[in-house]
Amino acid sequence: MSADLNLFITEETIEGDADADGPLAGATVAVKDNISTEGIRTTCGSEMLADYVPPYSATVVERLTDAGATVVGKTNMDEFGMGTTTETSAFGPTRNPADPERVPGGSSGGSAAAVAAGEADLALGSDTGGSVRCPAAFCGVVGIKPTYGLVSRYGLVAYANSLEQIGPIAGTVEEAAAALDVMAGRDPHDGTTRDLSEVDGADPDASYAAAADGDVDGLTVGVPTELFEGADERVVETVEAAIADLEAQGAETTDISLPSVEHAVQAYYVIAMAEASSNLARFDGVRYGNRSESDGNWNESFAETREAGFGAEVKRRILLGTYALSAGYHDKYYEKAQDARAWVRRDFEDAFADVDVIASPTMPVLPFELGESLDDPLRMYLADANTTPVNLANLPAASVPAGEAEGLPVGLQLVGPKFDEETVVRAASAVE
Ligand code: GLN
Repeated sequence: MSADLNLFITEETIEGDADADGPLAGATVAVKDNISTEGIRTTCGSEMLADYVPPYSATVVERLTDAGATVVGKTNMDEFGMGTTTETSAFGPTRNPADPERVPGGSSGGSAAAVAAGEADLALGSDTGGSVRCPAAFCGVVGIKPTYGLVSRYGLVAYANSLEQIGPIAGTVEEAAAALDVMAGRDPHDGTTRDLSEVDGADPDASYAAAADGDVDGLTVGVPTELFEGADERVVETVEAAIADLEAQGAETTDISLPSVEHAVQAYYVIAMAEASSNLARFDGVRYGNRSESDGNWNESFAETREAGFGAEVKRRILLGTYALSAGYHDKYYEKAQDARAWVRRDFEDAFADVDVIASPTMPVLPFELGESLDDPLRMYLADANTTPVNLANLPAASVPAGEAEGLPVGLQLVGPKFDEETVVRAASAVE
């Protein structure tokens, strides 16, 4: 059955260190296909990189295999991470194990579905605007998006580098946290990673797995009204029941307001597309990936390569991102989006003066049916309303199964202050 779900683009193995002990020894891990694996093709779900074999592995892959985990394959994804359903992949859509007529979410859909289908103990996704949390929610598994700078992006093919982090996906909070323990920490290859001993209030010896103790007694949970407005009623009911259950376990809940999140999706898409238009300029047919046969000059070869290599959604974003950055429009779009990003960040900072963690639906909708949102990009973008604010503010967040509605998984999102993954993990472990 799993073969029909189209989970993997490439099924090849990198053996974990057989001498390792610890929680990841002998675990299997499925790796999103935008994370480099030495000697194994890394396509980003794109025709452009269909034959690209990286000469080195990402830092996260090395850390996991050193800890004893075995890579079992490269998972399907929206092309270059651009999507919310895994339908923009050049390798066909992945199906949701909970209902094969529905999407698994995206863009790390193959990763979350591989864990949900029992094809891997763990998976890696990348989360630029929700791509770990959305598929975790739609597939009924756990996903953690770390604080920006906690996990190395070395070897991750960039989509929008100021927003994204690699994050673990697993069946339980404790397993995801144990993977994060191994992945986290300064990497000399990624200058944006932080040494936790130099971060105010962070504990360099923290064990995220140990924080999965389910103890929420006395924890204050903020419930932002804006992240429930407009959400599907069946999602809201399921998430509210999970929050009531946290209360029953001794947490205090309080309504809060994050007024600027209403601008988050718009700001996110301007910034993400602007960064993408710059990051994807490297795919010129000369340095990486496929090149169209052309007897024209360099400009023609560049244009033909990109015409053939990129899918429709990627082209749309390169065009819109280039437009948003161009002279005359830069102030009108890009700078306004940066202002909104600062407001969103400030709203969260204000909220965390009063609460320990913030709870909401991960996705405002139930998993789409296959094909339902593919021709309606705006509808797809709006589904990211609750996840994108977290990336704009560079905060840690988890999606944890809250229950089901109509037999479909519903995810609860928990957001914490910067570098306080422990509180996110603790609260998430109480939801399970
Ligand atoms: N759906 C969002 C987008 O298309 C998020 C994707 C991601 O996190 N990679 O940009």
